Amino acid sequence: MSLSHPRATRRDALTKLADFVPRAGRAYAAKRNYDHGPADRSNVSTLSPYLRHRLITEDEVVAAVLKAHSLSAAEKFIQEVCWRTYWKGWLEQRPQVWQDYLDARARERIRLLDDSALSARLEGAQRGDTGIACFDSWARELAQTGYLHNHARMWFASIWIFTLRLPWVLGADFFYRHLLDGDPASNTLSWRWVAGLHTKGKTYHARADNIATYTSGRFRPRTEELQQYAMPLEEELTQAPARWPAADNIAPDAKVLLFLTQEDLSPESWPLDGLDVAGVALFRPADAGSNQAPFVQAFKTAAIKDAGERAVSHWNVPAREIETAEDLAAFARERAADCAVTTIVPVGLLKPQVNTLAQSSAALGVPVKQIVRRWDSLFWPHARTGFFKLKERIPAVLDTLGLRPQGTLL
Ligand SMILES: Cc1cc2nc3c(=O)[nH]c(=O)nc-3n(C[C@H](O)[C@H](O)[C@H](O)COP(=O)(O)OP(=O)(O)OC[C@H]3O[C@@H](n4cnc5c(N)ncnc54)[C@H](O)[C@@H]3O)c2cc1C
Repeated sequence: MSLSHPRATRRDALTKLADFVPRAGRAYAAKRNYDHGPADRSNVSTLSPYLRHRLITEDEVVAAVLKAHSLSAAEKFIQEVCWRTYWKGWLEQRPQVWQDYLDARARERIRLLDDSALSARLEGAQRGDTGIACFDSWARELAQTGYLHNHARMWFASIWIFTLRLPWVLGADFFYRHLLDGDPASNTLSWRWVAGLHTKGKTYHARADNIATYTSGRFRPRTEELQQYAMPLEEELTQAPARWPAADNIAPDAKVLLFLTQEDLSPESWPLDGLDVAGVALFRPADAGSNQAPFVQAFKTAAIKDAGERAVSHWNVPAREIETAEDLAAFARERAADCAVTTIVPVGLLKPQVNTLAQSSAALGVPVKQIVRRWDSLFWPHARTGFFKLKERIPAVLDTLGLRPQGTLL
């Protein structure tokens, strides 16, 4: 099994995208569900670590694909990209679901201190030592490569919840600590979806024959090895969708610092509308409470470094790593900047850290203003209920964004 991890640069992302584009049409739709194992990922893009940190953006991936394929040929791939958008928009409008996840994870961690049997079963599952060959192999693959095929993620989560009967929040935590694309929205909400908590009563049930088919026989679990029924988990959740924070007003002649975080590392395409960029602040606090694997942290650190270097040469301004509001205010004073600007920091562990810093820095006279990418502002209003509502808006939104070349067949 290859132990090398992808390099966290935009250049690598663009190379990977260019390589994948010819396969993003009907070939992707026909073959994407096969998990051929870590040595052959040619039927999927493996762009997720880059998209997750926006080293490349959803709209540029879709634009590149639509230059080579009609919308109907590339429909499946574009829909998958939009699943990411859907999860992000959905969680943005239900921040309590993230908080509930953190609270439940904290409770389970406390339970583990007293429940040595549960603790041993959890350790065995994470080590890949359950005796279910496919599951054990995926656990090791995840820990070593930081990636699992989508179908393997679905099977893994289903076996974790329904066969091994482990708490779903600890499975989501195991994924989040090891995935290079680990994302509070896509990860947490996909686990909830498998468990039957997202679409009430509808679970994802991993079946032995399905695993054998879509791993091309690499794994052949016995039917009785896996739980025969996937009874939906239940919870009380009454919260109605809220609105996400709107973009802030910024004076058109403002001099600004760009405030870069792991959440959006393509500042070249931020909607800055001609603002005068005076410097680049890089904010990379330790991920409070996430305990991500060293290779995941290294990917994020390298990704921010790459974005900082690109921004410096794009705007010909200095960059500085900042840790506190005082650092930010001092940098703003030096560069005569009126404020710092960032794209919306989505729901997740980083958000409260940015909010705390922003509050203090506003008190020091340097507000951190939020801007919103058009991709997000056009799609997120359709991410309030099920995916279907967003899916049916895809052609219209792509037209509004000018991403569908004229004359492309539907
Ligand atoms: C339990 C579980 C946990 C998951 N956790 C994450 C996560 O933390 N981060 C993450 O980015 N994806 C997550 N996914 C979604 C999906 O598995 C990955 O995005 C996908 O496997 C990444 O591989 P790829 O880039 O080759 O995807 P492709 O098939 O090439 O798809 C292109 C892009 O579309 C997006 N995408 C594709 N499928 C999905 C999906 N089902 N949901 C959301 N976005 C999708 C990704 O950004 C991906 O890079 C999870 C799925 C499950 C079932």
